[in-house]
Amino acid sequence: MDSEDLRLAVYQEFAATGRAPDAGSLAARFGTGVSEVADGLADLARARHLALDGDGQIVMAHPFSSVPLGFSVMGARTLWWGGCAWDSFALPHLLPGEAEVLVATRCPACGRPHAWNVGRDRPPDGDQVAHFLVPAARMWDDVVHTCGNQRLFCSAECVDDWLAANGLARGYVMDLGTLWRFAAHWYDGRLDRGYVRREPAQAAEYLRSVGLSGPFWGL
Ligand SMILES: [Zn+2]
Ligand SMILES: [Zn+2]
Repeated sequence: MDSEDLRLAVYQEFAATGRAPDAGSLAARFGTGVSEVADGLADLARARHLALDGDGQIVMAHPFSSVPLGFSVMGARTLWWGGCAWDSFALPHLLPGEAEVLVATRCPACGRPHAWNVGRDRPPDGDQVAHFLVPAARMWDDVVHTCGNQRLFCSAECVDDWLAANGLARGYVMDLGTLWRFAAHWYDGRLDRGYVRREPAQAAEYLRSVGLSGPFWGL
């Protein structure tokens, strides 16, 4: 079982159905045992292509998630958990058949519902803001916690209320346009064979190109 074949099988299942494949279906597909699949998934997790839970089940294959983290993303015929704000805004750019999706969430501070039609051509309208809690250098310490704290709020005031209520220090706040540009091409290539993660210098260049800067991003 080739590692890239396995990675693609996971990503393609998420893209087509909104769900992660289980080890049994992957084993059947590749004509191998469940333990070989488990080893392959663990290798992909070490390379940061996936995040697994304590039982080895697939939780995330960014920007896809098998668990709710505050966002739903509705396509023409498919419903995805959106991962974080960044991941949710990335989906129309990554999925060939989904030029525009409906991203929905609640403000973590006040519970107000928000929804946007998110497409490929321009950022959605709205004066809401995204807040990212965990600095870039520590995002993979616990990537599910990190994504769970990359949320969209009514306003900077709601961000401050939420931080105060939870005793947290401010991370990074960006407007919807910046979030959309950030999400637009970050995940390019993940549904294609031969995907290679960006080197740190390439990642830094991408972040700068979409207007992100400062120590939060390691820039
Ligand atoms: Zn709010
Ligand atoms: Zn995320």
